[in-house]
Amino acid sequence: MQKIPHLFSNADGVAASFSRDESLANAQAFADTNKLALVRMLQRHTAKYMIVTERKPQVIDAVDALITKQRGVLLAVKVADCLPILFSHPSGIVGAIHAGRAGTTKKITQKTLQALTTEFGIRENLTVWFGPRICKECYQVNKQTDEHYDLVTENSKQVQAVFSDSQAKIIISEHCTAHHNSEWYSYRTEGKGVAMNWFVVGLL
Ligand SMILES: [Zn+2]
Repeated sequence: MQKIPHLFSNADGVAASFSRDESLANAQAFADTNKLALVRMLQRHTAKYMIVTERKPQVIDAVDALITKQRGVLLAVKVADCLPILFSHPSGIVGAIHAGRAGTTKKITQKTLQALTTEFGIRENLTVWFGPRICKECYQVNKQTDEHYDLVTENSKQVQAVFSDSQAKIIISEHCTAHHNSEWYSYRTEGKGVAMNWFVVGLL
């Protein structure tokens, strides 16, 4: 488990990543240790987000982003090449997004962050963290034309469609799941049945 630095400007937030050989069980243990209710998603590459209001463990089907201002909840996202995004606002709001190519094309990140403005009135001071994902070089999406897809660039554009550079700070992990495959699971590198890297964020 690694704590994710610089995501919070105050001390009551927690965020962590669970890399190779660190299963869901460890994410659950982290939740238990911090007395947090773990809320997971059955991710289906949608552009749907959900606002979590209850402090209870849940598995929510068919959403790919979670937002909460409920203390005592730990939001989780799992990926193996897709981009995990965590965000926090000092007023006490956190969120997690699963942004693969399909969800990115459907604008999952833009729609989720838009909800911060419409549902919570947030206009500035947002911190957004892009976790380890497959990089553009490693993510060829068309062999014949050698087309590559850049999850970081596309999702950065979606952040910037809602918040200017001075309103939201984006922190980008330097790790690619394929380039750094000794540390992270990668679907493209390891194939079907690969395990997942887990990322969590919550407010104590
Ligand atoms: Zn790479």
